[in-house]
Amino acid sequence: MSTGRVAGPTDRVVVIGAGLGGLAAALRLTGAGRSVRVLEASAVPGGLAGRFAQDGFSFDTGPTVLTMPSLIDDALESVGERRSDWLDLRPLHPAYTAHYADGSVLRSFSDPGEMSEEVAGVCGPREAANYERLVRYLTTLFQVEYGPFMDRNLDGLSDLVRPEAATLLRMGGLRSLDSVIRRYLDDPRLRRLFTFQALYAGVSPRAARAIYGVIGYLDSIAGVSYPSGGMHAVAQALAGAVVKHGAEISYRTTASRVELGAAGRVSAVVTAGGERIPADVVVLNVNPATAYRDLLPPGLAPRGLRRARYSPSAFLWHVGSSATMPSPAHHTISFGAAWSQTFGEIIRHGRLMSDPSLLITNPSFTDPGAAPAGKQTYYVLAPCPNLANSSIDWPRLSRHYAEEIAQVLDKRGFDSNGAFSSGVEVSQTVGPADWAAAGLPAGTPFSLAHTLGQTGPLRHPTQHPAVDNLLFCGAGVQPGVGVPTVLLSGRLAAARVTG
Ligand SMILES: Cc1cc2nc3c(=O)[nH]c(=O)nc-3n(C[C@H](O)[C@H](O)[C@H](O)COP(=O)(O)OP(=O)(O)OC[C@H]3O[C@@H](n4cnc5c(N)ncnc54)[C@H](O)[C@@H]3O)c2cc1C
Repeated sequence: MSTGRVAGPTDRVVVIGAGLGGLAAALRLTGAGRSVRVLEASAVPGGLAGRFAQDGFSFDTGPTVLTMPSLIDDALESVGERRSDWLDLRPLHPAYTAHYADGSVLRSFSDPGEMSEEVAGVCGPREAANYERLVRYLTTLFQVEYGPFMDRNLDGLSDLVRPEAATLLRMGGLRSLDSVIRRYLDDPRLRRLFTFQALYAGVSPRAARAIYGVIGYLDSIAGVSYPSGGMHAVAQALAGAVVKHGAEISYRTTASRVELGAAGRVSAVVTAGGERIPADVVVLNVNPATAYRDLLPPGLAPRGLRRARYSPSAFLWHVGSSATMPSPAHHTISFGAAWSQTFGEIIRHGRLMSDPSLLITNPSFTDPGAAPAGKQTYYVLAPCPNLANSSIDWPRLSRHYAEEIAQVLDKRGFDSNGAFSSGVEVSQTVGPADWAAAGLPAGTPFSLAHTLGQTGPLRHPTQHPAVDNLLFCGAGVQPGVGVPTVLLSGRLAAARVTG
């Protein structure tokens, strides 16, 4: 764990934001005997992991792929609670079903034996052997990386000087993810299943370093689960447990200012309603750029933050439908033929995908309660440019883009009548302009891209370099974007207090 600890009293903690990272920090600190108050601007916990319902259809608003549930266990156990008393998790089998432009279908199973058979059936026995070698590589990569570099506060480059770093280098960890996966796999379809996750990290598979192969490990080897009630149930569970153990969560309460006392330490948080809450420690579960701009006194922002590079964004189309897909699955990836151009289009050129690759989540496939009887809930995610590298007029485009996506899905045969659009009963879109209106820099919910310069110790740490009782957690800080990683960041921020 980190050497950077909060000096002085740590009894009264204010956490700003009840996102998953903030809740994880609150649980740890509550479990360690601190008096914790969480301020949350909205009416419910979870931040991006929200939920909305319309006409009997329930929709997750953000994450849908849950990996590493052990980190939820860990957060709950820090206050002596068991996950089984709070959440019903169902492993997804398969985790994904990938559809390719040539009509082939490849399912992703976490069990290596089962996946090997699937690969042998679709890509041939030689590729199955290649896949098995890749499983060994990615499993080792995860084992080498997780403890020393992910579950650890990294305050400077010197924190990288350890034997595991040499192992990672030998394993090609700093080479491009694409080139390392190519060393193992020949079939471009299978390669995509282990590289598309670079998008989660906000970079192309060529630009991503192979250390980000761990996301593919988590997705395609360690396994994906679905919480009954949707991903928001995770936030509800964490919030319920922390309140049960004595923390207070003040909803509809926006923090407007963090005060520094005479000793240059954080001393209080002031809310938009004018309440002043004295604090020994403040944990910000707010994007660092936003926090420095809106909440903290001037002069505290690290210099690098001004040159920040943000991830591409996402256009979401939430659909309540009477249509059932011909081969329904919880997570379907529909790859366009022009997959390799997609990254250039959305990241470099700031354009929409010319041949969209889409993630279609169908929670009612696993959890019929997510839709009225006989109907389906769909969540279609289209990666798109963020607002920093494009000038797309999203308020004008959104409805049209949803129609375009419907046409793509129709053409690709995603509804038994051959027309995805025919079954639409509820339709809602969320795009970059909406993410920006919610205060997310560059209109992306995926925060800072995981470029090499924004990775590990080069990403914002969980503790302010000069103000030791000012802590950070969430997607914008170490280790990064995603449900498991923000849960880790909450744990790492709390470790600045508890050791
Ligand atoms: C469309 C989409 C799909 C995704 N898919 C996946 C996926 O499948 N798997 C995965 O692992 N991850 C996924 N992610 C990423 C993951 O959801 C996020 O990285 C993670 O949930 C972010 O958590 P966080 O702790 O940073 O907090 P956030 O969710 O950003 O929450 C921050 C909270 O702080 C509150 N807040 C902000 N400012 C203030 C203030 N001044 N006062 C009070 N409260 C404040 C906000 O209201 C919010 O509730 C997805 C995200 C999105 C949006």
